[in-house]
Amino acid sequence: MSIWVVTGEVSFIVLILFFLLFSIYSLLEKEKRAFLRSLVLFLLIAAIDIFFILISIPLKNYLFGTVFVLSVVILLILICSPSPKQAMKFIGKPRKIDERDVIFARFDYREGTKIFKDYYERRPEYKKIDDDIRKIPDILSAPHMKKNPLHYSLANAEFNFLENQLTQVGGEISPEKVELSSSENSQMIKNIIKYLGSELCGICALKQEYVYSYVGRGPEPYSKKIEVNHKYAIVFALEMEFEMVAMAPEAPVIVETGKKYVEAAKISIIAADFIRHLGYSARAHIAGSNYQAILPPLGWKAGLGELGRMSILITRKFGPRARLGLITTDLPLTLDKPVKLGIQDFCQKCQKCARNCPAQAIPYGEKVEENGVFKWVLNREECYRFWRKAGTDCAVCIFVCPYSKPDNLFHNLIRKITSKSSFAQSLSVWGDDFFYGRIPIRHKKSPLDI
Ligand code: SF4
Ligand code: SF4
Repeated sequence: MSIWVVTGEVSFIVLILFFLLFSIYSLLEKEKRAFLRSLVLFLLIAAIDIFFILISIPLKNYLFGTVFVLSVVILLILICSPSPKQAMKFIGKPRKIDERDVIFARFDYREGTKIFKDYYERRPEYKKIDDDIRKIPDILSAPHMKKNPLHYSLANAEFNFLENQLTQVGGEISPEKVELSSSENSQMIKNIIKYLGSELCGICALKQEYVYSYVGRGPEPYSKKIEVNHKYAIVFALEMEFEMVAMAPEAPVIVETGKKYVEAAKISIIAADFIRHLGYSARAHIAGSNYQAILPPLGWKAGLGELGRMSILITRKFGPRARLGLITTDLPLTLDKPVKLGIQDFCQKCQKCARNCPAQAIPYGEKVEENGVFKWVLNREECYRFWRKAGTDCAVCIFVCPYSKPDNLFHNLIRKITSKSSFAQSLSVWGDDFFYGRIPIRHKKSPLDI
């Protein structure tokens, strides 16, 4: 057997194994189109390989040699193409965000109340658009319930549960301090958060610009000045189940959101209480809502991921298919650093979330500066308007994002390669459209359906 046949055969085996693995994973992930396409490619390459084996020398040497040379050229382009270089860019010091202006707070204000009057007197620019959106039935409200009583009832139960936890965020601090080094404390807290259920946790300094200025919603009085003077933020992420998100924007997605918020609240409340038992101040920040700091930038600073085109944190383990949790504390900790995953470059090449957004709320163009950060700015009102129409928190953008693919060997390998090579990113953007579709088909059945 000539050297050309051996090296060409190795290239064939690598390709055959790749598409075999791809088709198996796609079958497990119930991705019909990706399964069929990868299976066809697997069979086609295997058939070509057998055909090449059966033909006679010297044509055999020539064909296997060509396959080998082509594979080496593609590999070299992958390795030598420049690494994605864009990092997230900041200018100046961002001003604090007023929680009263956050869209979810605005839609908590009830018409006819003093708060409603006060708010729209101060911010008349939001009155018209908010009134217009208010005409659409609220998320999880009775008109939506009829569409899917099972899922909507479960989501309502989850959010009711969360509401009962809203006052559990703080408590007494033990007078006895347990003294450990900051690195020991960090390791201990990460172990505990992992044990309680989160696979991804990081620590950063709690910069005051990421603390809200005034209370907009939650159990604390409206308009109260927010004072969170803790030194550290412990941020963690929880993976949302792929099969539930794959039904976006239908009811299962909000059931999954509710479930992860409940889990995040449980972890934050227990971990904060644990820290107070060690003798240090700590506060849980939970959905539902009793947050006093902004999670995505803290998640970025703590090394969990980068902000993507869809304006949410794309985590390094689960992509945007995650919910975040937060504890702020004075327990001495060591800080993690932001990570560079190539997401800024990838999002520049990919517009899949923008193309698939039913509200067309995600920008197609370049990043712009907003409050000291260069980012893609979501049209929050149009996004939220669609949430009310759907009766859920939509999440179509999360489902279609290439980074949302399940956390497994196959997709992690692709994520790793795309973080290192611009050419691999272009190939991956094209491949995602080819295998999953430019407009991916949502799944039809939730694991909860009878
Ligand atoms: S959640 Fe839905 S409406 Fe909002 S940006 Fe994503 S895809 Fe668009
Ligand atoms: S879908 Fe594409 S453009 Fe949108 S956030 Fe994900 S990677 Fe970025």
